[in-house]
Amino acid sequence: MELEEFSKAFEAIYQLAVDGIATAPGRVNLIGEFTDYNDGFVLPCALEFNTQVAYRKRADNKVVVHSLQYPDEFDEFELNDAISAGKSQWGNYIRAVAFVLQRSGAKFSGLDLLIESNVPQGAGLSSSAALEVAVAGAFNEASNLGFTLEQLAKFGQQAENDFMDCQCGIMDQLISAKGLKNHALLIDCLSLVTESIPMPDDLILMIINSNYPRKLVDSEYNQRRLDCEQACTKLGVETLRQATMSALLAAKESMSEHQFKRAHHVISENDRVIKATQALKSNDMNELRQLMAASHHSLKNDFEVTVPATDGLVDICQSALGERGAVRMTGGGFGGAIVCLCRQEDVDVVKNAVLENYEKNFALEADIYVCQVGGGLTLQ
Ligand code: ADP
Ligand code: MG
Repeated sequence: MELEEFSKAFEAIYQLAVDGIATAPGRVNLIGEFTDYNDGFVLPCALEFNTQVAYRKRADNKVVVHSLQYPDEFDEFELNDAISAGKSQWGNYIRAVAFVLQRSGAKFSGLDLLIESNVPQGAGLSSSAALEVAVAGAFNEASNLGFTLEQLAKFGQQAENDFMDCQCGIMDQLISAKGLKNHALLIDCLSLVTESIPMPDDLILMIINSNYPRKLVDSEYNQRRLDCEQACTKLGVETLRQATMSALLAAKESMSEHQFKRAHHVISENDRVIKATQALKSNDMNELRQLMAASHHSLKNDFEVTVPATDGLVDICQSALGERGAVRMTGGGFGGAIVCLCRQEDVDVVKNAVLENYEKNFALEADIYVCQVGGGLTLQ
């Protein structure tokens, strides 16, 4: 939303002018799925969909929060008290961020907050990370806490892990904090070293949301994480980053089928991320296509996180594009979105193929986004 209009909306609610606005983007992951919490590699990029958080410092220790997406509900809580979950489902994300900041020993004052976002929620574009990073950015700026982008991203992850009960890795929050316009970000989730990779000018990024109703996503997600931990125990390594494919194959007999397959996905996926980074640098569509197809295959058969609707969308788009595009599921799985890289002249080819075949076969309507690659957290 335009800053002026957004500032006016804040004033209409609080009768006071804003001190500032923190803005953080949603993201799409090009490749490297379920590797972040295994200390592996990921290659996401930030989107021009973002979440804005307008803030004004209060004289007391109260946090009051409204969201333009939820006009009938607001939340407020005291920073003096131990922060626990409240009645507002979405308000808990703000409580979660305040909780982890307070736990770190940071001293900060209360805020009046207003949230506005055009990141589709629950579509796999990580509206939750965008919200956490923007809120953390607002607290950081309002009270001059001096945290780095990396630290703010970690607070966002801790908010999900320790308050919202979602055991996600660091990818979503780190790309939302550190993304660079028109660049993907290669993240080594072990060292948190990042490298910005320019997106080729003629590469178009499409995201297609299956709109498949996602169920049991967090419990399945947390179960996959457990499978990976158990695989590590069998392999005698701290995390799957230390495991090799040959060690995995040698240990196959001692592992359950699930442990083997989950580890097989993660180890092979790390290798694909490194290769895909090279392919992106050299704008090699053929290589990107093969790597993204292999990633999808592995997510379907080894990690078992796809559903017929997302498999179907990938098939529809890949069949329409042939060798001219790269396609796979993206995000947490069990529905959600697919990502498609292609050239401008094929955008309509993809759109038409989805319109013609998806609803007919899956009784769902897809949302198609042609996306621009945006930058990370900004403060105004
Ligand atoms: P995803 O991160 O894939 O979009 P999640 O279920 O992890 O899906 O996060 C979505 C949740 O984040 C919403 O249910 C809501 O609680 C919170 N949220 C996201 N955007 C907003 C917003 N603009 N205003 C209030 N809450 C939001
Ligand atoms: Mg989320």
